[in-house]
Amino acid sequence: MSGIIFIISAPSGSGKSTLTNELRRIVPNLEFSISYTTRPPRGSEQSGREYFFISREEFQRMIEEDEFLEYAEVFGNYYGTARRFLREAAARGHDLLLDIDVQGAAQVKQKASDAVSIFILPPSREELERRLRRRSEADDEEQRKLLGNGARLFNTEEIIQRRLQTAAQEIENFSRYDYILVNDRLEQSIDTLRSIVEAERIRRSTTGNKARDEDVLAAADRALRVQMMPQVQTILATFALSRSSTVTE
Ligand code: ADP
Ligand code: 5GP
Repeated sequence: MSGIIFIISAPSGSGKSTLTNELRRIVPNLEFSISYTTRPPRGSEQSGREYFFISREEFQRMIEEDEFLEYAEVFGNYYGTARRFLREAAARGHDLLLDIDVQGAAQVKQKASDAVSIFILPPSREELERRLRRRSEADDEEQRKLLGNGARLFNTEEIIQRRLQTAAQEIENFSRYDYILVNDRLEQSIDTLRSIVEAERIRRSTTGNKARDEDVLAAADRALRVQMMPQVQTILATFALSRSSTVTE
């Protein structure tokens, strides 16, 4: 185990939290960096579990004291990865999973070029819209349960439309990532994600079980960006994007 950094980015609503939660459950020695954010908690989120929810003033203080490995402004709020998570995981010989946006991913790749980056795509724009709506309805339901009918709700058309627009912009950055995972069937996506983590561990290790290793490496290779291009093209088209409009490495 060598302290590998795994970066996962995806447009909001693609299923990144669902996938990373499952990955953490099934893969040993993989720690999850809990980000700091200035956005308010959503649904049943708790400080110290999904995020550390802090004020803009506290966030500013952490920036000034150089406590962040990276930070970025997303949807009008600050989000950042504390350096201490990296230090602590490395000290335990564990790998670290970062769920961060494309701006943060670029900052981490600059500082740690051997970090492994994975971009999750929804199967199409239509499916992304469906998932965003389903999730905001579920969050609204949680809010009502917690705070009654006067609760501030999340299911506004404006938020969904803004997230869809941002998704199209974020997707343009897929070409900066090592692996592309299309989150269509959940079970299959989880298997692929696990293969990527295991393959990267195998590549950095001197021991192993050759027969099993080859299957895992082959499964991970199928998710390499270059292998995924035909499928990515089809998805880009649903967002009215073409390969030529996307960011090149
Ligand atoms: P993100 O963390 O990327 O914003 P979530 O993990 O919250 O996204 O998922 C958004 C919604 O889509 C949730 O309601 C989740 O249950 C659902 N979802 C996630 N993955 C899949 C999938 N493979 N198929 C169908 N629905 C999914
Ligand atoms: P959400 O508010 O939906 O949880 O997250 C919004 C976006 O912020 C997602 O794209 C998520 O990956 C990103 N994000 C979460 N934590 C961090 C972080 O620490 N740094 C950066 N750069 N982005 C983050």
